[in-house]
Amino acid sequence: MPPAWTSELLRLAGLLAAGALIGGLYDHVLLGVLLVALACLGWHLYNLYRLDDWLRTGRLDVVPDGSGVWPPVFARIEYIREKSRRRRRRWRQLVRELRASAGTFPDGGVLLNENFEIVSFNAAAERLLSLKKLWDRGQRIENLLRHPDFVAYIAAGDFSRTIELPAPAGGDAWVSCLVVPYGPDQRLLLVRDITATIRMDRTRRDFVANASHELRTPLTVITGYLDALAEDVGAPAGWHAPLAEMRSQSARMARLLDDLLELSHLESAGPRGLERAVDIGALLESARREAMAMPDHPRRVEVEVGSQARVLGDPLELHSVVSNLVSNAVRYTPPEGAVRIGWHADPAGGHLVVADTGIGIAEEDIPRITERFYRTDRGRARQKGGTGLGLAIVKHCLRRHEAELEIRSRPGEGSTFTCHFPPHRLALS
Ligand code: ADP
Repeated sequence: MPPAWTSELLRLAGLLAAGALIGGLYDHVLLGVLLVALACLGWHLYNLYRLDDWLRTGRLDVVPDGSGVWPPVFARIEYIREKSRRRRRRWRQLVRELRASAGTFPDGGVLLNENFEIVSFNAAAERLLSLKKLWDRGQRIENLLRHPDFVAYIAAGDFSRTIELPAPAGGDAWVSCLVVPYGPDQRLLLVRDITATIRMDRTRRDFVANASHELRTPLTVITGYLDALAEDVGAPAGWHAPLAEMRSQSARMARLLDDLLELSHLESAGPRGLERAVDIGALLESARREAMAMPDHPRRVEVEVGSQARVLGDPLELHSVVSNLVSNAVRYTPPEGAVRIGWHADPAGGHLVVADTGIGIAEEDIPRITERFYRTDRGRARQKGGTGLGLAIVKHCLRRHEAELEIRSRPGEGSTFTCHFPPHRLALS
């Protein structure tokens, strides 16, 4: 027991004994004890009143004095209060520091509650999203960032990816947004200024598109002269081989320019025009005819259409997907091999399969073959007339149709390219 309480109990016992003694002198022992007990009770009530008064109204830094057990009680309360005051000061300081450092971040941060209402935001978010401190707190974020892509992003609730949007302030500023969930039902919207990257990307795209466009005219002229020379019966015999090589190279260059133009068109095209119901069965049949018209095609090119489901998309882009995959399968499969082109649908979506029994692809090359100009064997690819852009075009077209490309392959055994279309991209006729 703390010493203050021991001496308090001893004092109480002493006082009660004195009360009993004095009461005994007057033949009223109990009365004496009672009076002493009442006096003690009154004294403790008085101190309790002082404590309550101090906690309610008194100056918190002036501890009331007293005697007995009360000074340690006052002191302990004061100690606890001082500790919590210090903790509050530390928290306030920490919040101030956090606010100050968040204010210096080049990236924007917007705190959102479980209803996607704005709790607070830093200076960069204020600037990038044109938010106003006084008005926008408590507003739903989609009411302020009304871009359809952002509204759909929030509604879908899939925050594993970043989305890019024109900045609400207008001009040609762009921002990327990523929602990071944290704590129970809290979200942080991270906003980054990507104007410079978008501008650079646009400049690169425009340059490639313009250069390809400009190169087309002189190439058409050269090809015209080469065709004329090749048909000229009076041309010296020694010219035939170089002329044939020059014609094949200029045809390759024309294909390269066409692919570059198609790729830059795909990169800059918006999501419009992707809603037509495309008959995949008919596309596969036409791809088979194209394959059978290619030189050295495999003897067996089979089509299996297991579903009448159509894909909502752009017919030209979907044709490009099928024709690039089939032309690769044909070019990388020997004549004695086989190519199978299939289409089927299940609850997971639509699946377009192009499988061959050709040369196959090494495991380490598979993740890279959809990169522009990436070839597993440059010499062979060139000799096969490839541009190195076919699969990059396929990947872009599929991305625009929200589809995924799956590649399975074994060197020497063949490859299977499968395009998985999500169920909402299918139309059942
Ligand atoms: P290319 O025009 O050179 O064929 P692609 O982008 O279409 O360019 O393909 C990239 C590379 O992927 C090719 O050079 C080839 O090495 C490999 N490839 C693509 N399809 C197949 C296939 N069906 N079988 C084997 N290799 C393939």
